[in-house]
Amino acid sequence: LYLCFDVGGTSIKAGLIDDLGNILGKMSVATRVQEGADNVVAQLAEIRNELCRNLGILPSSVRAAGIGVPGFIEIETGIVTRAVNLGWYNVPVTEKAAQVLGIPVAVINDANAAALGEMWQGAGKGEDNVICLTLGTGIGAGVIVDGKAVIGKNGLAGEIGHFCVRIENGRRCACGKTGCLETESSASAIGYYGTVEAEKGNSPLLAVKLKEVGKITSRDVTEAARQGDEAARNVIEQAAFYLGFALANIFTVNAPSRFIIGGGAAAAGDLLFKPTISSFTRFSFAGIKGEDIIVPAILGNDAGIIGLAKLADMKLKSTYPSGKDE
Ligand SMILES: [Zn+2]
Repeated sequence: LYLCFDVGGTSIKAGLIDDLGNILGKMSVATRVQEGADNVVAQLAEIRNELCRNLGILPSSVRAAGIGVPGFIEIETGIVTRAVNLGWYNVPVTEKAAQVLGIPVAVINDANAAALGEMWQGAGKGEDNVICLTLGTGIGAGVIVDGKAVIGKNGLAGEIGHFCVRIENGRRCACGKTGCLETESSASAIGYYGTVEAEKGNSPLLAVKLKEVGKITSRDVTEAARQGDEAARNVIEQAAFYLGFALANIFTVNAPSRFIIGGGAAAAGDLLFKPTISSFTRFSFAGIKGEDIIVPAILGNDAGIIGLAKLADMKLKSTYPSGKDE
């Protein structure tokens, strides 16, 4: 059994997961983020106790734990160098959590955890080279090569949201540059362009929504597109165009078997996937076809904790003395 904690700035999603990736139980509690890292780590032990008690499982039958954190992590040392939402800077989370829980612990970035989950039990099942993208407020991504998350220099691998897709006339991104994928194809980008169309008077449906609610989300744009609103459809197609362009170029680096797409904007389904695949196919080389590669994520919010079980399992195996114990 593995204990998994997806630690976010507002909540900790926890799960107890077996060797086959089945979730035996899960819970979510508010992160005591104001009280500092030690207190949040202490929370993990409380959650473990409660989960085990609810399921009638002895805490001693848990063999390892995986922790997902939204930030940068030094994999070798298990130190979280920077997690802005948690206010953690250079916190030795692996060491602290292993002490408190009394079992081996591994820590990874939350986007990589989700990617591991989709690879193990989700849309990438049976594959070991996958790239997972979450189209939300920004674009989070995890790159898995040969079954392992790619961390890169300073933990900067997989920052696909900042892949430049518009060299000229791009919008300013949160990273300070312009024309990043995140400013074109994230859920918030789709909401932004939907607002622009509503304000220009090109989309009657979105104009009504904007007047009623004061803002447009990617869900509103999808809804309008489904009802035949041409401007809304164009907004999604434009986001898909840049996404497919980025994926085709990223494909040239390590040729993943799957690009697994999740997050709010992916809820548009075929409205997003079809034009993304056409764009990918247009920009990719050597006759690579997008329909075999670009697929929707299937685990939703559970991807993270399932991936953390895989991580805990890997941690355990690599600490075994050269395979003798298995
Ligand atoms: Zn950027």
